[in-house]
Amino acid sequence: MSGVMSRQPSNWARNIVFGAGELRTPSSVGELQEIVRGSDRVRALGSGHSFNRVADTTGVLVATSSLPPTVEIAPGGSAVRVAGGVRYGELAQRLDAAGFAVGNLGSLPHISVAGACATGTHGSGDANQSLAASVTALEMVTAGGELARLERGSAEFAGAVVGLGGLGVVTAMDLEIVPAFAVRQFVYEDIPAAAVVDHFEEIFSSGYSVSVFTGWRSGSGQRIWQKQRVGVPGAAGGGRRSWLGGRLADGPRNPVPGMAADNATEQLGVPGPWHERLPHFRLAFTPSSGAELQSEYLVSREFGGAAVEALARIGDRIAPVLQIAEIRTIAADGLWLSMAFERDAVGFHFTWVQDDAAVTPAVSAIEDALAPFAARPHWGKVFTAPPETVRGLYPRWNDFLALLRRYDPAGKFRNEFMNRYFPPEA
Ligand SMILES: Cc1cc2nc3c(=O)[nH]c(=O)nc-3n(C[C@H](O)[C@H](O)[C@H](O)COP(=O)(O)OP(=O)(O)OC[C@H]3O[C@@H](n4cnc5c(N)ncnc54)[C@H](O)[C@@H]3O)c2cc1C
Repeated sequence: MSGVMSRQPSNWARNIVFGAGELRTPSSVGELQEIVRGSDRVRALGSGHSFNRVADTTGVLVATSSLPPTVEIAPGGSAVRVAGGVRYGELAQRLDAAGFAVGNLGSLPHISVAGACATGTHGSGDANQSLAASVTALEMVTAGGELARLERGSAEFAGAVVGLGGLGVVTAMDLEIVPAFAVRQFVYEDIPAAAVVDHFEEIFSSGYSVSVFTGWRSGSGQRIWQKQRVGVPGAAGGGRRSWLGGRLADGPRNPVPGMAADNATEQLGVPGPWHERLPHFRLAFTPSSGAELQSEYLVSREFGGAAVEALARIGDRIAPVLQIAEIRTIAADGLWLSMAFERDAVGFHFTWVQDDAAVTPAVSAIEDALAPFAARPHWGKVFTAPPETVRGLYPRWNDFLALLRRYDPAGKFRNEFMNRYFPPEA
């Protein structure tokens, strides 16, 4: 256990310095319960990969990575019980070694399971839901220091899984698992921009998980990263030399143009285990570019093409501060605060240069452009949408607020971010 900080903790991207007075690293759930019971303000910290103040607190920040890294596969492989602070990459290695998998992963394996689920993190794939949708039960230390277990099907469960850290510190989750599977990854480049709108359905149904990368610059080619399950015939692309006016990449690529491909997962159609292909970035390397900010918006699937066109119209405002942008698809789920709540979605992701002042106008321009499509901002990334707009995007907003009041009546887990989007007096 530790309370002394040599320097103020910050998030992974170092654009947020947390306001915590203390950073604690409990080594047991019992110790965590004591910390929560004895604190007026407390907040769980996962792997710190969020880009805004969602994980911040003015009180005690509790690192969940110090808790025992439990991974227990249920007999018969019906589910896995995993400690909240375990990173997806570590979980994946344990599952794969036992012949199992989770259905999907985000673009990086470095994020903690509970932290990723808390913000509605997702990968890509027409049939793939957000990572949180695979949770069948969660256990958390609540404001009084007690342990609570919520199971799928109970009244509050769908509100608690994407919980933004506001209901308690999640110590363990049960996740659905499937038999391990193999994936091969192809990259196509120099695809004309018009093809993304004209062939939207063909592109995103062409693999188990598909991403389009773009710089939102007119005249420049788009790239498609296509992850196909081995043994399941791909609908299109899939290793042919040319597709949609573009061509198969002749060497490994990095999603961020100009960066070496070393930190990217293997491509060129080489089959490999699911967890070494579904993320774009390898666990042993720094993901993405490191010096960056990120934003992302999810719109209803039917608006995918129109949203592409709306963003293309403001490409000249996006491109100068952009490192790379990505378009993905996400299947609907029933989790109240999921960005894909009750609608199949298209995600528009932006990796920015790390310059708040330069990026904010581009973020606002995107929010204006996507407003007609009721775009939901990613909870863990940079956005400027006012609270009343965000509130209007979530039909179960009131129910979540009631859950916050019930689990955290004194506001122990609250922070500036929660108070802004879920004001206690609302
Ligand atoms: C390079 C990079 C790539 C990314 N790629 C994707 C992507 O492909 N798809 C996507 O959707 N997002 C992506 N993200 C965003 C990222 O997945 C989310 O920000 C996610 O929440 C990070 O998980 P974390 O463990 O770092 O959580 P943190 O940032 O540490 O915390 C996020 C929230 O979860 C809460 N929390 C953490 N642990 C617990 C716990 N045990 N109990 C209760 N609450 C908890 C925190 O209090 C906070 O509110 C990316 C981020 C980076 C930096």
